[in-house]
Amino acid sequence: MINKKILIVEDEKAIRDMVRYSFINGDFILLEAENVQQAFNTVADERPDLILLDWMLPGKNGIDFIRELKKDSETSDIPIIMLTAKSEESDKVYGLTVGADDYIVKPFSPKELIARIKTVLSQSRQRLSALKSPSHSVLVSLMVKQRLSKLGLFWTMINDKLFF
Ligand code: CA
Repeated sequence: MINKKILIVEDEKAIRDMVRYSFINGDFILLEAENVQQAFNTVADERPDLILLDWMLPGKNGIDFIRELKKDSETSDIPIIMLTAKSEESDKVYGLTVGADDYIVKPFSPKELIARIKTVLSQSRQRLSALKSPSHSVLVSLMVKQRLSKLGLFWTMINDKLFF
């Protein structure tokens, strides 16, 4: 299996170093950017499999970057995990609404980081295979389920209707 390319967009060197250390066993290849402009260049050149994205960056912030990625069909399906010091529930909901797939609050452990990356990569594979299947409702229910489980909500789906 080809190692997955993970792009980290983070202006704090200590956090980038910590992520590089977390990847030491070689499951992933780490690409690094310090700001959104560098990140756009790396996305165009390398097409990462997943992006770890800081919220507060010099110049354009992480939310601006997500909005730009989602506008372009070439980049809209790259999964994104937000890395941020913001721990308020409303910020978490906002990040997920804009299009982040998951959210890690700093400081985080290397084990948590790796576990979340693997989960998000596998959810994104499921989404892509659902896209290839003819059933649109399978895709929609999968995406809804993933988003809601992030928010800690429980749900069941009966006859295409959601019950909480
Ligand atoms: Ca920052």
